[in-house]
Amino acid sequence: MSGWCSASHSFGAVDNFERPRRPLRKVIDMPLLDRTLLGPGPSNPYPEATAALSAPLLGHLDPEFLRVLDETCARLRRAWGTENARTLPLSGTGSIGMEAAFANFARPGDVVVVGVNGLFGERMVEVAGRYGAEVVRVDHDWGTPVDTERVLAAHPEPSMVAAVHAETSTGVRSDIRELALAVHKRDERALVLADCVTSLAGIEVAIDAWDVDIAYSGTQKCLGVAPGLAPFTVSPRAWDRRVPRPPTWYLDLNLIGAYVDGSSGGRTYHHTAPVAMITSLHAALGRILDEGLEAVWERHQAAGARLHEGLAELGLSLFAAEGYRLPELTTVRVPEGVDSAKTREALLTEYGIEIGAGVGAFASSVWRIGLMGHNARPDRVELVLGALGRVLG
Ligand code: PLP
Repeated sequence: MSGWCSASHSFGAVDNFERPRRPLRKVIDMPLLDRTLLGPGPSNPYPEATAALSAPLLGHLDPEFLRVLDETCARLRRAWGTENARTLPLSGTGSIGMEAAFANFARPGDVVVVGVNGLFGERMVEVAGRYGAEVVRVDHDWGTPVDTERVLAAHPEPSMVAAVHAETSTGVRSDIRELALAVHKRDERALVLADCVTSLAGIEVAIDAWDVDIAYSGTQKCLGVAPGLAPFTVSPRAWDRRVPRPPTWYLDLNLIGAYVDGSSGGRTYHHTAPVAMITSLHAALGRILDEGLEAVWERHQAAGARLHEGLAELGLSLFAAEGYRLPELTTVRVPEGVDSAKTREALLTEYGIEIGAGVGAFASSVWRIGLMGHNARPDRVELVLGALGRVLG
């Protein structure tokens, strides 16, 4: 079948369109609407983020909405730990952040060194290559962190060095602070790009103190919002070195900036901002900042530590290297003789709990359990431990 949709019906001539016999329902009829999302994302949103989605819709140029947008950017600055003027939510999921980073800051032929220790590092290699960069990949064993010395040794004068802070495919944290400071100590003109999709608002991220130039995230993980936006931030050093006319119109930060940045007066329409999603992100960030960033990180830390302890009590072993384990995303080895997919299915159908499978070579030998945002709580930890214990018998 050609085309984009796999729906079983096809829209032929209007005359042939079969009218439904029943009135259309206002809400999709799903058998079970409530799931506990403890996989690699999306996670259950903060209640404030969900409530905000039902607020009356405003136009994207309405002054009231522009106030919400400005405040959202200000709140994002606090979450990122940055004064970067160019901090904004991009329209699209986390991958849009990755695309925007390479499209706007890597010219064809630029040397980009990527530390690869999982699926999302691999994706950086792919995306950077598509924008014409000369990519030097530095491979690490999955389950281990990116090694600063090896990345530095890979090329004497790269334009950009990129790595994933929290590798969702393996549950590993890499030391972006150490990497960025080392890269800039050697060459202060080199740009450092960090993927913070699974780290922002879950573990410490400090863009300015760590001297990171470009970073992106996604709303569906620790930020506790539905998928759909990619928070993005750019340092003045990176902005000065941007590609003047990137090969993508939609992700051209010059054009998007003319709408998002109201400091010089007028706002120029670029694309229709996803107003409901931005309002939802605004609400989640309000919740996070009210709780306090450090308290939020501590909540994730405590939940992750209890999960790791409880998994050991169940006789299970963790996959990620000790000392680099993420509290918000745990990778655990599937025990010998246990069917990975059947266990996940039982958790979903019997307990309404979603956990993730592993990725790549570890697809059926590892599970991924997320405790992100609103789900980084003791009750969720005990719920998943109890259910997993029962399913494993
Ligand atoms: N980077 C990391 C570390 C991720 O975990 C993900 C998604 O899980 C992405 C990038 C891509 O984000 P998205 O799937 O929202 O496009």
